[in-house]
Amino acid sequence: MTGWVVVAGLGPGREDLITPEVQAALAEATDIVGYIPYVRRVPARPGLTKHETDNRVELERAAHALEMAAAGHRVVVVSSGDPGVFAMASALFEALEAGPEAWLTLDIRVLPGITAMLAAAARIGAPLGHDFAAINLSDNLKPWDLIEHRLRLAGQAGFAMAFYNPRSASRPHQFARALEILRAECGPRTLISFARAVSTAEESITTVTLEEATPEMADMRTMVIVGNRDTRRVGGYVYTPRSAP
Ligand code: SAH
Repeated sequence: MTGWVVVAGLGPGREDLITPEVQAALAEATDIVGYIPYVRRVPARPGLTKHETDNRVELERAAHALEMAAAGHRVVVVSSGDPGVFAMASALFEALEAGPEAWLTLDIRVLPGITAMLAAAARIGAPLGHDFAAINLSDNLKPWDLIEHRLRLAGQAGFAMAFYNPRSASRPHQFARALEILRAECGPRTLISFARAVSTAEESITTVTLEEATPEMADMRTMVIVGNRDTRRVGGYVYTPRSAP
């Protein structure tokens, strides 16, 4: 049996937002590897082994996937959303770089998925219709100072912004600080949307101004989208014009 590794994105939650290409890879797989809640989204079937791992062991998980593929398994490494956006695709290539040379000839493919940012933007209207920046607010893999620096510059540059991992119990104060910076750089009237659990039964979407926004409006299941100075409401929607403000 010839092994392979596919790194696949399962989309934001709802099953019909998984691409047919990813569904086909899941149907052919012998092994599914990933963070527990994502692996659980793949239905069990005979011949399929599910390897559920904890959140912070991405490199070990990636190396395990490559080892299994080298031994002839057909392995799908699953992420939510898109695997290339703050997820497993980079971890897999890091493990490949650090691993034995024989792994370089393995059949490795990355299959795109609908990232949370795009699913959220579509529910809100078109907040990312002009230039924007996607920023991970978690300081697990980079210092908080760098995050503040990027927020300031993106605000000064007039980018709309999409924030992944906006707030967690282990760092409750940082999102409050991010809001302060955004108010100063983007102006208090700029619109900010909180899109929680998009495409699941718990979905909720709220838009307020930066002035009205409070840290409690975000948690780890929320995508936060800040408009530029020209982002506005029309009916129940929020959109950013395609031209520069
Ligand atoms: N690879 C994923 C992102 C992983 S980071 C992707 O492309 O979507 C995890 C963060 O994504 C969460 O903290 C949250 O900010 C966001 N997220 C993931 N799924 C979401 C959903 N259904 N609704 C809103 N935000 C979501």
